[in-house]
Amino acid sequence: MKPVSPGECGEKRLDHIAIAVHSIAEALPFYEGLGLKKLEVEIVEEQGVKVAKLDIGNTHIELLEPLSPDTPVGKFLAQKGPGLHHICIGVADIEADLSKLKSSGTKLINETFKIGAGGAKIAFVHPKATGGVLLELSQPSEA
Ligand code: ZN
Repeated sequence: MKPVSPGECGEKRLDHIAIAVHSIAEALPFYEGLGLKKLEVEIVEEQGVKVAKLDIGNTHIELLEPLSPDTPVGKFLAQKGPGLHHICIGVADIEADLSKLKSSGTKLINETFKIGAGGAKIAFVHPKATGGVLLELSQPSEA
């Protein structure tokens, strides 16, 4: 597997860190108590998840609550309990990044992007390729 060299993939930023929780209502008071502001709560049917987005400087924390136990986040909670679910890198051209990762033999969960929260184009890279953390790539809908 050929590593993707930095600079080959254009501008990158930390878009968000996502934490799987059983209940947004139960998890939220801690973060609000720290002074983080809840920006929005969105249901993303395709991912089977309710997402609470918290503002923190130039990035976000997302609390993920599964809509049912048979969703990806529901299965994660059943196996591992609440905790860090994934980190997300914001990209300018997700199709270019996916094709570079594919051609370098990187283990991907999504070989083509899906539509995620806020209409962003998203795809997940397998933890085996990233040092053990599920990694999301996200291209904002307006980009
Ligand atoms: Zn995410």
